[in-house]
Amino acid sequence: MRCLLFACLLLGSAQGWALDRFQVEGYALPNGLQLLLKPGSERGHVAIRLVVGVGFDDFACADKELPHLLEHLLFSGIDASGEGGLEQRMQALGGEWNAYTSNADTTFVIEAPARNQRKVLDLLLALLTHTRLDDRAVAAAKQVVEREDGGHYSHLQRWLDRQDLGHKASSQLAVELGLKCAERAEVGHLALTQLEQVRKDWYAPNNMTLIVVGDLDRLLPAYLERTYGALEPVEPREHRELPQIQGTAAVERTLINGWVGQSAQLHWLFPEPVLDQQHDATFDLLKDYLDWALYRQLRLERELSYGPWSDREVFGSVGFLSLNADLARDDLPQVRQVVEQLKADLLEHGLDPATFARLKQVAIDRQAWAVQGNSALADYYWSVLGDFDNGRFSDPAKRLQAVSLRQANLALRQLLQQPGYLRIEKPLLGDEQLLQLGGGLLALIVLGSLGGYLLRHRRKP
Ligand SMILES: [Zn+2]
Repeated sequence: MRCLLFACLLLGSAQGWALDRFQVEGYALPNGLQLLLKPGSERGHVAIRLVVGVGFDDFACADKELPHLLEHLLFSGIDASGEGGLEQRMQALGGEWNAYTSNADTTFVIEAPARNQRKVLDLLLALLTHTRLDDRAVAAAKQVVEREDGGHYSHLQRWLDRQDLGHKASSQLAVELGLKCAERAEVGHLALTQLEQVRKDWYAPNNMTLIVVGDLDRLLPAYLERTYGALEPVEPREHRELPQIQGTAAVERTLINGWVGQSAQLHWLFPEPVLDQQHDATFDLLKDYLDWALYRQLRLERELSYGPWSDREVFGSVGFLSLNADLARDDLPQVRQVVEQLKADLLEHGLDPATFARLKQVAIDRQAWAVQGNSALADYYWSVLGDFDNGRFSDPAKRLQAVSLRQANLALRQLLQQPGYLRIEKPLLGDEQLLQLGGGLLALIVLGSLGGYLLRHRRKP
């Protein structure tokens, strides 16, 4: 009996510990490096994320690729063995690594066996401190980045981008509103000195967070203090202010994507009004609701769209919620009518209380299994870094729970009261138009040759 009681207690506490993914050992070293250490549920493995607080948003349009180019350069090698030698060292430790540059940060992502966690962290530190930048490495990294961005930026593509034709609908709207750069940033003109400056200004411990999740080494805290703790901090830099809506955009536009085809897409985008409380939780729930409403009306009831969807995107400092549908171009008037009616109904009657309650419960329940394993947990902490406070991340289930039907209805009304921005994407010509055009051309050719024949015969006598 006593054994059973003990087993129950153990089971209870172990479960409590495993469930509480929001509690994390978090502290800053004297040089400002923020550490987040979390024992994970899987043995033998650690997930490491080093988040450096510099991203595309920190640079003007022409220089936007600076942090991305630097990220690639940092893998070019720490000694004469170069890039290959560096990769070999990581392989020898049984780990894998990669890095990503986003609008807000540059992050080094590592998966490694737990037994080598300190050695892997040593290698990461060597990459940060021992990589020497030179012109040859810069030229090589430029080629890679250019290829990643879709190859050489041709004059035609640049021209299309300037006419707002080369972007997808939401990006095109963001360009119109002054929230996004019109042209793709290029790397050709970026200089070694600029890259060195970015490294000096931003790659400092007081601008970094190191996340380690998994089978943590007992000696990890002391090790980190001795090694990463020796990095020199810099004078903190201010991030650039995010762009706000500057221009006006057309309420409705048709965008050409491709030359010929029968498919089209409808996008209706609405800037999200800023809410004082539970902004993200509220709009996440509204997105779920609109997803379901579109699916029901366009797919299940009318079969006008195979996978209509609702989306949330952020450009500059503005969030957008959108209603989207893929469709056949001939169905466009019908789809448009259905979506307009949906908007009108929601404005008049608000959300259906039972549906809202059901979808809210799904969103809450999803939190129980949304983040599984060391790597997903490390990625999760990375995605909500700004939310860390006093040893805890806040619980999204509680934030969702706190959104009332009344609150959601208020937000929905504010959102849909705006006219929004309607964007139709379709190829230049439909199949029928192509046939007509082809027929027209053929007729012209026939008429032309007939005319030539008649002329020749008239001259003969
Ligand atoms: Zn890249």
